[in-house]
Amino acid sequence: MAPEANIQVTLWGVRGSIPVADPAVFRHGGNTPCVALRLSDGARVVLDAGSGIRALGDTLAGTREPLHILLSHLHLDHIQGLLFFKPLFDADREITIWGPPAGDGSLRDRLSRYLSAPLSPIEMRELPARVSYRTCPPGTWRLGPALVEAALVNHRGPTFGYRISEGRAAVCYLPDHEPALGQSLETSEAEWISGYALARRASVLIHDGQYTDSEYQAHLGWGHSAVSDALLFARRAEARRVILFHHDPAHSDDDLDGLCDEARDRWSALGGDANSVEIAAEQRELSVEP
Ligand SMILES: [Zn+2]
Ligand SMILES: [Zn+2]
Repeated sequence: MAPEANIQVTLWGVRGSIPVADPAVFRHGGNTPCVALRLSDGARVVLDAGSGIRALGDTLAGTREPLHILLSHLHLDHIQGLLFFKPLFDADREITIWGPPAGDGSLRDRLSRYLSAPLSPIEMRELPARVSYRTCPPGTWRLGPALVEAALVNHRGPTFGYRISEGRAAVCYLPDHEPALGQSLETSEAEWISGYALARRASVLIHDGQYTDSEYQAHLGWGHSAVSDALLFARRAEARRVILFHHDPAHSDDDLDGLCDEARDRWSALGGDANSVEIAAEQRELSVEP
């Protein structure tokens, strides 16, 4: 019997809101969100196009596998790397960019507000690659060997979370997410919790952990999570591994080390294995086993 497929995950950008170029963050990284998945057939699924996508693009020179970019939403920190992604300048490349629907225009039109003058030196129509722009369909759809599911989640503006699964290996990506806003993560009906269906029993949950608990009090409704809420959410969804993501630009490596210790203690108190929680760091690679 053939071994069951797994998914290779590489984190290319883990910082939220704005890139940070400061030696105090170099261990975890200062690039904005980008996560690459390599499926069992070699196809690449890229989650978000923050500044981290630039370095990913450098590794794809000469490759020809299908390339799909899934945008969670169009806040600048999730799309600002697009114009620096080398495959978009390769005329032999076919790339599909997926994103959430919105009432004010197609995905292509909305992206072109950024990828056009006066903000950009080139226009989208000038990109040499063959790029198609697709609004994610409701429910689940197939990309090669993987099943992809997108659903709107609590953030500011139309924002998707994603679940990508191959066999029994499932990665859930919720980079900008505030599930605790207006409800209890402990007592609400699970089905009513934002993002729950996407994260349910995920092998790996990559989740917003932007704030400490005390910082969160000053940022209610900003669309991001306190670490303790991210962990409550993960526990409720029975995620097996949790990667805290979208670090606040003000959090240094030392701050993140402290948050990691706290998060592991909390996860143990919730009944989990402390070693299955980590703070996202750029260049981190992991293999998601079924
Ligand atoms: Zn963001
Ligand atoms: Zn956002």
